[in-house]
Amino acid sequence: MITVTDLTKVYHQGRREVRALDGVSLTVPEGSIHGIIGHSGAGKSTLVRCLTLLDRPTSGRVEINGVDLTAARDAALRTARRRIGLVFQQANLFDSRTIADNVGYPLELIGVDKATRAAKVAELLGLVGLADAGQAYPAQLSGGMRQRVGIARALATDPDVLLFDEPTSALDPKTTDEILDLIMQVRGRGGLAVLVITHEMHVVKRICDSVSLLDGGRIVESGALTDVVSRL
Ligand code: ADP
Ligand code: ADP
Repeated sequence: MITVTDLTKVYHQGRREVRALDGVSLTVPEGSIHGIIGHSGAGKSTLVRCLTLLDRPTSGRVEINGVDLTAARDAALRTARRRIGLVFQQANLFDSRTIADNVGYPLELIGVDKATRAAKVAELLGLVGLADAGQAYPAQLSGGMRQRVGIARALATDPDVLLFDEPTSALDPKTTDEILDLIMQVRGRGGLAVLVITHEMHVVKRICDSVSLLDGGRIVESGALTDVVSRL
C-alpha cells in the first residue's frame, strides 16, 4: 500500500513561486488500481518525480507499507526506490540489449546472480505474454510489445507499488486495450498497489477502482470511480 500525505512541491522561477503540487494526499491499498487524471500543467509529471524520489518534495510524505521514502537518504533511498516499479509512456528500453537483458537489468544493478536473473526474467516474460521474445532486440518489437517489456522490467525487483506514467498515450486503441488488460491482470500479483497517471479519461474508466482529479497541483475530486465520474 502507498500513502501520500500533504505532498507539496514548490519551484522557484526568479521571484515567482510555482506550486506544482499543493498538499496532495492519497492512499492506494494493495490489489487496487488508482487513477490520477489531470490536464497538461496539472502537476502529473511533478507527482511522478516526487513519488519516485527523482525529485525531492518541498514537504509531505510518501510511505510504502509504512516506510517513509522521503526520509531515506543515499543507500537507503536507493533501496526504498526499488519498492516502486515505474512504467513510462515509451518503454525506454536499451536498444543494444536483448529483451531478456532489458528485463533483468534492474536485478543486474543490485548484483543478483545470472541464474536467478534468468529464472526471474523467464517468469516475467511469460507473465506479459512474451515468453519467446527474450533473445529479440527492442527494435524488432511493436510499440505494444515494448510496453509489455517495460512492465516486466518494472516488476523485476518485486516492487510493492507499480506506477504507470501515461502508459498508453503513445499506443493505438487496440494496443491500448491490450496493455490495459495486462495492467488489470498484474494488479493481483503479490499485493501490488497500482497508480496510473494519465490525461486520458477512457483509461481511468476502463481499469481504475478509484480516481483523483489533479488540477493546479491540488486534488479537487477523489473517490470511487463511479462517484467521481458522476460528479464530473
Ligand atoms: P503535467 O505533467 O500535469 O503537465 P507538470 O508537473 O509538468 O504538469 O507541471 C506542473 C506545473 O509546475 C506547471 O505549471 C509547470 O510549468 C511547473 N513546473 C514543472 N516543473 C518545473 C520546474 N522544473 N521548474 C519550474 N516550474 C515547473
Ligand atoms: P511532460 O508534460 O511531457 O512531462 P513537461 O513539458 O511538463 O513534460 O516538462 C518537461 C520538463 O521540463 C520536466 O522536467 C519539467 O520539470 C520541466 N518543466 C516544466 N515546466 C517548467 C517550467 N515552467 N520551468 C522550468 N522547467 C519546467
